[in-house]
Amino acid sequence: MKKYPIQLKNNTTIKITQEELDEFSQTLKGAIITPDDHEYDLFRKVWNGTVDKHPGLIARCRGVADVIRAVNFARKHGLLVSVRGGGHNVSGSAVVDQGLVIDLSEMRTVKVDPEERTAWAQGGALLGDLDHETTAFGLAAPVGVVSETGVAGLTLHGGVGWLLRKHGMAIDNLKSVDLVTSDGKLVKASKDQYQDLFWALRGGGGNFGVVTALEFHLHPIEPTVSFIMPLFPIEDANKVIHFTREYMQTAPNDLMLLGIYWTVPELEGIPKESVGKPTISLVGCYSGPRDKANEVIKPLLEISEPLVDLSGEVSWTEAQSMLDEDYPEGKYYYWKSVYLDRLEDEVLEIIKTYNLNKPSQESTIDIWFLGGAMQDVETSETAFANRHHSYMVAIEGNWSDPNMNKQNIQWARDLYNELKPYSSGGIYLNFPGFVEEQSEIRQGAYGENLDRLQEIKEKYDPSGLFTGLMDFSRK
Ligand SMILES: Cc1cc2nc3c(=O)[nH]c(=O)nc-3n(C[C@H](O)[C@H](O)[C@H](O)COP(=O)(O)OP(=O)(O)OC[C@H]3O[C@@H](n4cnc5c(N)ncnc54)[C@H](O)[C@@H]3O)c2cc1C
Repeated sequence: MKKYPIQLKNNTTIKITQEELDEFSQTLKGAIITPDDHEYDLFRKVWNGTVDKHPGLIARCRGVADVIRAVNFARKHGLLVSVRGGGHNVSGSAVVDQGLVIDLSEMRTVKVDPEERTAWAQGGALLGDLDHETTAFGLAAPVGVVSETGVAGLTLHGGVGWLLRKHGMAIDNLKSVDLVTSDGKLVKASKDQYQDLFWALRGGGGNFGVVTALEFHLHPIEPTVSFIMPLFPIEDANKVIHFTREYMQTAPNDLMLLGIYWTVPELEGIPKESVGKPTISLVGCYSGPRDKANEVIKPLLEISEPLVDLSGEVSWTEAQSMLDEDYPEGKYYYWKSVYLDRLEDEVLEIIKTYNLNKPSQESTIDIWFLGGAMQDVETSETAFANRHHSYMVAIEGNWSDPNMNKQNIQWARDLYNELKPYSSGGIYLNFPGFVEEQSEIRQGAYGENLDRLQEIKEKYDPSGLFTGLMDFSRK
């Protein structure tokens, strides 16, 4: 009889028999995928092509009952577990080598209550699923800026996007979270119930159980918003960043901006003579009153003479998917992040030099101009510890040639190390590289909240069934 080797938490391997597997399989609505299945390669892969993990089993859950049974199966056999939401985390933590993947990608239902202005999204929903439903009622949830990203992973680690300055991070708009804990129990964590869990889930990541649904407070959104995207010559980079840095001090919170160092791509609307040139671009969204849009955006478009200006008025769902085509599934990615409180010229020079010398023209260096509602919340109010920095630099190594993995990863790591001395500390878990430096990242991500997170972990997952991105043990 066929047996499936599966790795245990203690690093030993057991073999699950076909009989045990059949028994497990019969309790689920969704499919169990083993390495023998022809769909195995399809379902073990995640968005980042550099991730090549081989799980022992994949449970493609179709609902809460499936999740409970998968958790119970994992606990009974002591299996290593990973949880897959949208499968977009660059680290590939959604998949575990030889262990059990609890795959929620068939759980993407979203329901909106327009009276209460709330949305309930299943644990495998993507941002596009959420936006599709909420915009039918003129409402939006503050999440991220690419529609194919998973709602759960993005939110559990913070969640920054076009409504960040206006309404805060995704976690700041969470009303409740449905979670299957390590003992196979479904709980609803909110401000009124399981308050400690609710605190931990807002920034603590996927360490506390399987999130089967997230409920968000929604906000009215105009039928159209302004998408901002002038591409300036790289020679004007300092001028653009200096101006934006000052401008954002007094700009309305309806405006959210990134300064992106990259290379002009071959896209519709881009003049041929600009393609392939290094550029500094402002990319952002103004979601405030329409009659104020021009007044707010015009000064940004006039900082210098753009090579091309791709700005325009678009629907909310268009704004949310404007960058999708830059991040195709299966290409190669390595992203890291550094928080800064000041943007000195020295830092801008380093960024400019790395942009000019990158091994892949697809890579970008993005300065997020943080602030606004994100900073109206105290650090101790949620597990997210990095609210009060002024800027986040996201280093995006993006490339198409798998033979260039080493060079591109090294480029991103080198830039990260060069920027670290200027950093005010902290790490954003949604851009975590391959989470190589566990203790540095854990301290950087959770800071003063780490002790409380570890206590909550011990209370709800004493055997350490869920590893999430981070190892929470007190080693
Ligand atoms: C193209 C692209 C654009 C992005 N843009 C933004 C952005 O604008 N803003 C931003 O903040 N981030 C952004 N990110 C980063 C993104 O938020 C993270 O990669 C996030 O972790 C992805 O969530 P996911 O569910 O797709 O990931 P997955 O890889 O499925 O999950 C990542 C981890 O989250 C946990 N997890 C996921 N789902 C669950 C669940 N249901 N229950 C328990 N744990 C779970 C698990 O620990 C898992 O290992 C972007 C990423 C990509 C690839």
